[in-house]
Amino acid sequence: MHIVADDKGAGVRMSALIEQLYPICRSITGDGVRQTLDIIGKSIPLDIHAVPSGTAAFDWTVPKEWKIAEAYVEDEDGRRVIDFADHNLHVVSYSAPVDTVMTLEELQAHLHSDPAHPDVVPYRTSYYNEDWGFCLADAVRAKLKSGKYKVRIDSALFDGELTWGEAFVKGTTEDEIVISTHICHPSLANDNLSGIAVCVELVRAAMRQPSRYSLRVLFIPGTIGSIVWLSTNKARLGRVKHGLIAVNLGDAGSMHYKQSRHEGAEIDRAVEHVLKTRVPDHVVRGFSPYGYDERQFCSPGINLPFGCLSRTPYGEFAEYHTSADNLDFVSQASLVHSLQTYRSVLDVLQHNRRFHNLMPECEPQLGKRGLYGALGGKSDTKARQLAMLWVLNYSDSKHDLLDIADRSGISFDLIAEVAHLLVEHRLLREAR
Ligand code: ZN
Repeated sequence: MHIVADDKGAGVRMSALIEQLYPICRSITGDGVRQTLDIIGKSIPLDIHAVPSGTAAFDWTVPKEWKIAEAYVEDEDGRRVIDFADHNLHVVSYSAPVDTVMTLEELQAHLHSDPAHPDVVPYRTSYYNEDWGFCLADAVRAKLKSGKYKVRIDSALFDGELTWGEAFVKGTTEDEIVISTHICHPSLANDNLSGIAVCVELVRAAMRQPSRYSLRVLFIPGTIGSIVWLSTNKARLGRVKHGLIAVNLGDAGSMHYKQSRHEGAEIDRAVEHVLKTRVPDHVVRGFSPYGYDERQFCSPGINLPFGCLSRTPYGEFAEYHTSADNLDFVSQASLVHSLQTYRSVLDVLQHNRRFHNLMPECEPQLGKRGLYGALGGKSDTKARQLAMLWVLNYSDSKHDLLDIADRSGISFDLIAEVAHLLVEHRLLREAR
């Protein structure tokens, strides 16, 4: 993993951003999303897009916008036994308004807790069925006394809009790498904010380094956001050459890669090469139609080469979708390691290409070109010569540098470096 001096600064910035965003009550629409995008837009240039409620997108319709001011359950003594002001996970996201008095038995049907994890507040949503509810620790729920409770949710569902943000760093070609992260979860640190933080740093890094591919980073509400983005960008999806879903990047677990539906696309090979050569402890899995927004990007009629590169995957950590996925659950060390891994993948994609050997009949004489350092010089002379022989032999317009790196076991960086040298000596030309 190549460490650049700025990584410490990036770690501090990512933690600070996560802390700043953590208290905001986000959902798939509404002020929380707009406020989150405003804050992201202070770090990187961000275009804000919106479509109105009711907009059709493939088989879906953009829902009403949701807003909430306060919500609580009060017992007969006027004590608030559940209060949205204490934690925004206490209210089922998209709860319809309610203001009534009911018995504990009636209230139970609207309470959500997890007996398997009795001390945490679970995260629940009800975007597409109008309903209301409260979430609480099972230990707290067990202590509720029978009697009457005042139940109030001061919320509103109204015709508004669905909002998302896009950061775009122009490359020298129209071809794009797209990285997508969701921005719709309330106070959950790893499942949501870690992805946002790493994506912001990737944009900052890309802005400092002109590249071949343009980089587009999507900050979108989960599911409906990617469906609307794909529907509004359908005519230009041909530009999207590689994609990643960036999620769960701050926990202590090992890196996991879920392949694209192509299972062998360049993005799959690039990620797997980086993991194999730089991240000893990692897991690669085949595609499955479940998880995050790869479900939409990899749906059969879209079928873009999108993988999901995370630390612990969707739903596989005990803290997942609970109040325990908090600021203590994400570490700066994990965030920086995830950022470095992503940056290495982008580096491979930016430099991977196919070449054509201009002197393929027998080996070209490297010595007379000063390329065969028989008397030594650089300590890596032997490794460089070997890399040149691999690149010359497999530069047949069919194999790309990543193939050659994988086949030879030589690092992609060295393979790319000697390819550049061989182009300068007119032994290779880029295959188009
Ligand atoms: Zn989630």
